[in-house]
Order: sequence, then C-alpha cells, then structure tokens
Amino acid sequence: MSFATLGLSPAVLLAASKKSYITPTPVQAAVIPAVLWGEDVLAQAATGSGKTAAYVLPLLHLMTTGSSKVLILVPTRELAVQVGDEIKGLLAALGKMTRPIKLATVFGGVAINPQMMQLRGGADVLVATPGRLLDLIDKNSVRLEFFNTLVLDEADRLLDMGFAAEINRILALLPAKRQSLFFSATFPDEVTALAEGILHQPSHVTIENTEINQPDILQRAISVDAHARTALLAQLIQDNGGQRVLVFVASKQGAEQLANQLYAKGINAAPFHGEFSQGRRNQVLAEFKSGSLQVVVATDLAGRGIDIDGLPFVVNYDLPRSPIDYTHRIGRTGRNGASGCAISFVTAATEAHFRLIESRTHIRLTREVIASFEPQQTSALAVPNPGGVKGVRMSKKDKLRAAAARAEKE
Ligand code: AMP
Repeated sequence: MSFATLGLSPAVLLAASKKSYITPTPVQAAVIPAVLWGEDVLAQAATGSGKTAAYVLPLLHLMTTGSSKVLILVPTRELAVQVGDEIKGLLAALGKMTRPIKLATVFGGVAINPQMMQLRGGADVLVATPGRLLDLIDKNSVRLEFFNTLVLDEADRLLDMGFAAEINRILALLPAKRQSLFFSATFPDEVTALAEGILHQPSHVTIENTEINQPDILQRAISVDAHARTALLAQLIQDNGGQRVLVFVASKQGAEQLANQLYAKGINAAPFHGEFSQGRRNQVLAEFKSGSLQVVVATDLAGRGIDIDGLPFVVNYDLPRSPIDYTHRIGRTGRNGASGCAISFVTAATEAHFRLIESRTHIRLTREVIASFEPQQTSALAVPNPGGVKGVRMSKKDKLRAAAARAEKE
C-alpha cells in the first residue's frame, strides 16, 4: 500500500515523501481516511506506530484545503517538542505549495512571555500541554473558540499526570461542533470514559500488537572508549558466528576506513555510501543478501535503502545524529516478524547525546561493559561535580560536555 491511495492531496503526499514516509504504517492506513472524511477517531496506538503522522498528515491536508484550526494536547514537554518538530518538518517540506500555516508549540517549565509572543496573530496549529495552555488562555493569548479540531495524544498519560480537570476546562472552551481525535496506548476505564465524553460516533482503530508493528528488537548500549570501538566490533562480529551485521558510521570516509580495518582482521566487510554508483550499490546489497558478504558499513542515507529480511544485527559504531535516525537505523533489523538486536557504542563524549536519544525514543538502556574493553574515559555525566575541586580547571571539552548534560537535564 502507498500513501497515494489514502486520499491525501498531492502537496501533502509530496511532503510525506520528502520526509521518507513511503509506506503508511497500519495506524496511518486506518486513521488517515477517517480523518479526511471528517470523522471523530478513537485509536489505540503507541509511540513508534507512526501515530503522530497518522493525524498530522490528514490534518495538514484539511488545513491546506480548508480553514481547519487544530489544537493538539499532549502530556509532556518532550512529546510537545517531538510533535512540534514533526509538524515543522512537514511544513518545511510543504514549503510554498500551500498557504502559510502557523505552528505554535507551548509547554510549561519555561518562560511564558516568548510563548505569548509566538501566539500573537494566532496560530493555525497549536501543540500544547494542558496547564500551560490554560495559563496562556488566562493571559488572553489564546482563544479556543476558533479551534474546530482537537487531538488528544497519549490520553492515558494525560490522565496519569493528573490533567483531568485541565482537560475538562479546555473542553468547555472549545466549540461543541468540532472534529476530535483521541489517541491512547492503553484504555483503562477512566480513559474510555474520557473518550466517550469527547467523541461523537468515532471510527475505532485498534492496531494489534503484532510483531510487525512492534518489532522484536533487543536494544543494547555498550560503554566503550572511542579508540577501542573497532577492536570491540571485530570481537562481537567474530563471536556471533558469521551472522550478518549492518554497521552505521557518521561519514563516507568513516565507512571506507572501518570496512578496510575489519577486512584487514579477516572479516568480510564492505563500505556502503552515497558516492557509490547504483551498480556498485546493487552488487554490495546482493552479496549482503546472499550472505557472501558478512558486514556492511553504511552511512545513514545509504543505510535507509537496505531492506533485508532476517538481518539479525545492527551496530551504531557512531551514534546517529537524531532520534529519528536512531529509529530508522534500528528498524533495519527485526523486520517482517523476525527478531533482531541493535547495539549502540556509547563513549564518554557521546553519553549526553545518547541520553537525549533515549529520552526522545522513550527507552532507557543499561550501559553494558565488555571484558577487556572497559572504558578508561568517564563521561562528564558520571562525574558529580566536574571542575568543582579547587585548583582543577575544566578543559574546554569537559565544559562542553557538562553544558550538554545540563541542557539535557533541563
Ligand atoms: P510516532 O509513533 O509518531 O512517534 O513515530 C515513530 C517514528 O516513525 C517517527 O520518527 C516518524 O518520523 C517515523 N514514521 C512515521 N510514519 C512513518 C512512515 N510511514 N514511514 C517511515 N517512518 C515513519
């Protein structure tokens, strides 16, 4: 199935393809047509199912072809930022293909004034946590009577976090005639009751937790010094008995260099990156598929084209730049019901970055240490008060790490 069959406008289809959304996930295939029909939707879907794009894509269609104004309520600042970023990316991809659509993202725990400025002149799509939204309403920065579309994202967490009263206040301020979309991973009684109070004859979407939707991927993180990664990788490859491994690195040069080093250690490895001709790419893929090539060392862009059933191992030798890249990378394994394992090498310098990836993808992995590869360098995060001892000055690198750690905590 492709997005083109779901009824989305050519502009939104093009934006989706620019974001590399080629095949709709099951929740998208079910939700998008219902939203385009103007129906209310009650969907059981967890993070990772593609639920955000399931409502954002059709709502962008409705906003660009009509006069919808959309309020998206989310439980946390993290989810607000994530949903805001997804919309921002799609709006950038839409570019000048449509009328300008103004997005505002607001959440608590930060100064309210910049958010009030952001809301001057209104917003077409507003992503908000409930408490901060009510503060902004009290300050006359938002008027809800113009929002004719409501999305509740992660409704179960909204209730878990004690936002029931806030949600009821917000509902009372919204127009009674509106389209409402309700997403929740779980449906305990109070969530069902909330849904019943909000939705009008909704389309029910339940995505079974099949292996395809929830790939069986064991995620691991290994703490290791940067310079020891190649030797550790070689050992892991040799220990796993000839199974195929897809290794991700940050650059073309890195791919070439690491593949050469592995080859020199007697491992049948090849690089794979964007500068290869189509013919060469096809050849590497064919050899990897047949198993005659054991290891492929790829960059992010090239690696997205690798779709191999039964690929058991992905290794992040260099960490991905973004949580989205992380999701794409680990999704190369555990495909079509097979199980897989994704290992990330975390160094002292990349610990803060990996924590950010963990928080955005809602995971927390134990850092493993492999015998003979115990890290000698410690991350700034592991040091309680780096530079706090009189007479010891922090290096520039340590200052940067500490700043990253602080930013991550905020
Ligand atoms: P979500 O469940 O909304 O948190 O989405 C999980 C991840 O999948 C996000 O990084 C999306 O950008 C990505 N994603 C959503 N839909 C698709 C799709 N149809 N194809 C590829 N990636 C997708």
